[in-house]
Order: sequence, then C-alpha cells, then structure tokens
Amino acid sequence: MDKIASPKKTKEIIEQYQFKFSKSLGQNFLIDQNILEKIVEGAGVTKEDDVIEVGPGIGSLTQHIAEKGKSVVAIEIDRSLLPILKNTLQAYDNVEVIHEDVLKLDLHHLIQEKFHGKKVKVIANLPYYVTTPIVMKFLEEKVPLLSMTVMIQQEVARRMEAKPSTKDYGALSIAVQYYCQPKILLKVPPSVFIPQPKVDSTVIRLDVLEKPKVHVDNEKLFFSLVKDAFGKRRKTLLNALSTGTLGYSKALVKEVLQKAGIEEQRRGETLTIEEFATLANSFSASV
Ligand code: SAM
Repeated sequence: MDKIASPKKTKEIIEQYQFKFSKSLGQNFLIDQNILEKIVEGAGVTKEDDVIEVGPGIGSLTQHIAEKGKSVVAIEIDRSLLPILKNTLQAYDNVEVIHEDVLKLDLHHLIQEKFHGKKVKVIANLPYYVTTPIVMKFLEEKVPLLSMTVMIQQEVARRMEAKPSTKDYGALSIAVQYYCQPKILLKVPPSVFIPQPKVDSTVIRLDVLEKPKVHVDNEKLFFSLVKDAFGKRRKTLLNALSTGTLGYSKALVKEVLQKAGIEEQRRGETLTIEEFATLANSFSASV
C-alpha cells in the first residue's frame, strides 16, 4: 500500500480536498516515513496490540500503526478530515475513525466498548496546544493503558522526564512520574512536518505503572502539596507550604516537616517523588 506521508502524496491529498490547515487545532502533519516507523517501533506495537490514536490528521501515522498492530481507534476532532481519512485508510479494515474531541470523550466507556476493557497503547502526534491536558486526562482518569508514545514539544518532554534539582523538574514531572516510567525516544526537527511548527519536537514513551510509583493516603492533598512547593520555586519548603493554597500555618508546616525528616530550608525542587509522598502522608496524618 502506498504511503500517505511522502511530501508529494501529502500535498496531493491536501490539494485534492482543498484542505485548510487549522493552526488552532495544532495541525502539523508528518511527512517523513522514517520518523513514523520509529514512532511505531518505539511504541513496541505488535499484532496483539489495540491502539488508540489521538488526531489522525490525514492518516499518516494511522497507516503505520494499522500495518503493525491488531486494531486502531483514531479520534479526530476536525470534521473536514473525515472524508479524507475514509479515502486514505480505505484499505485497512482494522481502523475505525471516531469524530470527537478527545478531551470530552468518556475513555473508559470507549475502551470497554471497542476493546472489552483490555489494556491499550496510545500513540499520537499530539496537537501542541493541548498536549498536557490530553496526556493527563488519560493518566488521571486511570484508563486501562499499557503505554503512551507521543510526539510533543521538546520542552514539555524534558519536563515530563526531569529528575530532582534540575531546571525542568516541576509539578508536571511528579504528575507524570507518579503514573508512568517516562523515556525520551527521539528528537524531531520542524522540517519533517507541514506546516512546520515553531518548536523542536520529541517522541516520548510513558510506560504506565501497574500501580502509582508511591503510596499516598490522599492523592488530592499530594498533588496540591506538589503544586504549592513548585508554585514558589525560590522559596524554602517552610515558606512555600505556609503561604500556599493549602492554608497551613507556619507552626504546622514546621512540625510536619520535622516529623517527615525533611529539612525546612530545602526547596521543593530538591524533593524526590518519594519524599513528596512521605510529606503528604505526614500532613494527612496531622490535619
Ligand atoms: N497524526 C497526524 C500526523 O502525524 O500527521 C496529525 C497530527 S496533528 C499534530 C494533530 C491532530 O489532532 C490534527 O489532526 C487535529 O485536527 C487533531 N486534534 C486537535 N485537537 C484535537 C482534539 N481535542 N481531539 C481530537 N483530535 C484533535
């Protein structure tokens, strides 16, 4: 089957359907077979795998997934791409395109209906304007996932896999690493897309853990604590946590930090995820 993603073929399809790229929907289509192959290879797709793709565009990545995997459900928000996808993917009877906004979709219901609740792999070249909300929706809603292999802005990928005491380490690092083991797979220059994005891109694979990386008694408190600790990066933990959204008094923060064995002069950015969990559990035991 001819590949959709050559520059020539992509331009032909776009002209034939008079397709207008939407900047606000983050439409940057891949035109490099090599990169597409590497994404699917990096995701480790086999004939056993059911895959959800977010934003198939004209089907460039979908085609590669369909050839390697068992089945693909592709979720596309832009109605004008539906007739194009019907045509470009007509040879693949293991692909189903759903016209939906992924952020509004009931993902548990979708996976139950299409895959009988079996764990799926997510693969996507994500629209950059909503990268983090899409990734976090899949993780926070705890849908049955094996992994997410996604192309995102390089800067966001770095934040997702950052380690303590680095400039990229923050609330997003903790949120992602609570649910997943992240691994950066490859860096991708703007030249392999049309139109070209303004930023460099990275393919990252997030292997979803069987259970969260750390045990916390109260998830809401844990994430609020992380947010407060990073909200004021330059402040010590004692200051950041006693002036944050949780409304704790200085005396309480002092007492809990001591109980958790964490020095009050440290900054949030030096704490490992395990230390954040210990601290959150000490707070939930004390308030
Ligand atoms: N997969 C194609 C490729 O690699 O060439 C297209 C990727 S393009 C970066 C992002 C795609 O996501 C576009 O097709 C866009 O219309 C779609 N999209 C944007 N927002 C979406 C949303 N909220 N739900 C589903 N699809 C969305």
